[in-house]
Amino acid sequence: MLIVMHHKAGDKQIEAVVKAVAVLGLTAAPIPGSERTAIGVLGNKGYVDDSTIRDLPGVQEVIHVSKPYKLVSRDFHPRNTVVRVGDVEIGEGRCPVVVAGPCAVESEEQIVKTAKAVKKAGALLLRGGAFKPRTGPHTFQGLREEGLLLLAKAGKMTGLPIVTEVMSPDTVGLVAEHADLLQVGARNMQNFDLLRELGRIRKPVLLKRGMSATLEEFLAAAEYILDEGNHNVILCERGIRTFETATRNTLDLSVVPLAKELSHLPIMVDPSHATGKRSLVSPMAKAALVAGAHGVLVEVHPEPEKALSDGPQSLTFAGFERLMEEVKRLNAFLGFSEKAS
Ligand code: PEP
Ligand code: MN
Repeated sequence: MLIVMHHKAGDKQIEAVVKAVAVLGLTAAPIPGSERTAIGVLGNKGYVDDSTIRDLPGVQEVIHVSKPYKLVSRDFHPRNTVVRVGDVEIGEGRCPVVVAGPCAVESEEQIVKTAKAVKKAGALLLRGGAFKPRTGPHTFQGLREEGLLLLAKAGKMTGLPIVTEVMSPDTVGLVAEHADLLQVGARNMQNFDLLRELGRIRKPVLLKRGMSATLEEFLAAAEYILDEGNHNVILCERGIRTFETATRNTLDLSVVPLAKELSHLPIMVDPSHATGKRSLVSPMAKAALVAGAHGVLVEVHPEPEKALSDGPQSLTFAGFERLMEEVKRLNAFLGFSEKAS
């Protein structure tokens, strides 16, 4: 960390900063310059909380050299992490996977039908929300435990590992009992108690990017899970809020190669929530794979016009089959050989 002092800062102010650094157990090394003094901070092993320093009189700017995440960073862990979900491997060097299923589990018939259809088309994981984070309380909130059990049943019938959202720390145990991959939704990316609880289990976690989270905040959220001991984390870009209203969110595809530069964790893309529009899902799913995503998450429904949530962005079975044909050709072009499902 480097503390830049104001050009009018006097010796007393510099001295006060040096003392505040010492209180943190660190060493301050003033570097006098022709216009101003800068103070280098030595002895820290990671990010330093600057809250006791940045508002001291005479301090102009605090520049952080270390990142607020460490376990997640490539500096700390240069080799790529490959996360195993059931017998599916997700990460660099593996054929990108397609996760598919409805936004929410609505009935046994709906989830079983969808599971069979997406399995037949080549999906390797089945998704379906049971605990649903809805914007308002008067919409369908998910079948909760019943939905989780139906999803698990459909997963067993088809042999597909399942992924579903967990919304609160007190349901982590229940969801982990049945799900192969636990999803943290965009709205909960900074639910720190939830992240810590997920760090204490050994099941893999799919962490979605918060809708207004920077990449640094996204990686710092993942750090909470790794910090508690669970290193099986997959990142998921699902679009961010911008001024654009033509799409539900703005898919930030540049974050895929950038996250891969900064972190060893796998990253997937959800073109369904990113666009909110069925016709855009397939083009953006393919774009994500070209950008280097380790997989895509796609919403599929037997009758999207009757879906209880996210119908407009859900693919029909026929639409999903078409996407899968294109994904298979694209994966071959990118040099991956498909693992038979
Ligand atoms: C979902 O995947 O069902 C979901 C609610 O997504 P997000 O958290 O990205 O909005
Ligand atoms: Mn949805």
